[in-house]
Amino acid sequence: MAPHVPDPEESAPGPEAVAIDVSTAPVPESFYCRRCRRALNIRFNNLGMIVEYLHAAEQRGQPSDHRPEPAPLTEIPAPIIECDFCSAPGAAWIYRCANQVTDARRVTAQVVAVGDYQSRHHAARVRRTDTEHAFTQAWGECWSACQGCADLVEARDLYGLIGRVVESLPAKLTRGKHLMRTRGQLHDRYSDVFHTLAPGRGRIAPGHPLGIWT
Ligand SMILES: [Zn+2]
Ligand SMILES: [Zn+2]
Repeated sequence: MAPHVPDPEESAPGPEAVAIDVSTAPVPESFYCRRCRRALNIRFNNLGMIVEYLHAAEQRGQPSDHRPEPAPLTEIPAPIIECDFCSAPGAAWIYRCANQVTDARRVTAQVVAVGDYQSRHHAARVRRTDTEHAFTQAWGECWSACQGCADLVEARDLYGLIGRVVESLPAKLTRGKHLMRTRGQLHDRYSDVFHTLAPGRGRIAPGHPLGIWT
C-alpha cells in the first residue's frame, strides 16, 4: 500500500476538509514511529512536501523524549494504537473522514507606530503583526477511537466528545483562558470529522492495525 503522502492539492491553505470518496478509496496507511510504535502526524510546507513528523501525542499536548522515526504502520511490529481523540491506549475502532488540514502561521514582525513608541516606549501597542506560512498540519483521514470515544462518535455527540477529550488533556491546555481556545479548536476539528464521516468503521484486531471493515 502506498504511504500516506499528501499531494499538493490537499495542501491548499485553510481548514476546509477535502472531500474524498471514502467508500471506495483504500484505507490510507498512517506513519508510525519505529522507536515507540506510536502514531505520528505529518506537517508539510506550501509545496506539499513533508517537512516534519511529530508524535500524535505531542500534537495533543503530551511531551515526547525522542525524535520520531517514521515508518508505514504495517512495517511496525505490534503497533501501539492510541485513541486519536482522548489518547487512551488500546484503540478499538478506526473511522474515516476527509483529510483535514490546518495552517499554522509564525510571527515574523510586530509593527508598532512610531508615535506610540516615543510616548509609551515598551507599552506601545502592536499595530500590525506580520506572519508567514509556517507549516500545514495534516490530521489524516483515519481516526482511531477507544470504545468510550467511539460510543460518542456513533451517537454524533459532539459536545460529549469534546468534554471527554478536554478531561484527558494536560492542564496547560485547559487552565484558565486556555480552556475556551482548546474547546474551540476541538469543536472545529471534530465538527469536520463528523460532517465528513464515512459509513462503517473498522475494528482494530491483532494483525489488523488498519481495522477489519464492516
Ligand atoms: Zn516515537
Ligand atoms: Zn478515546
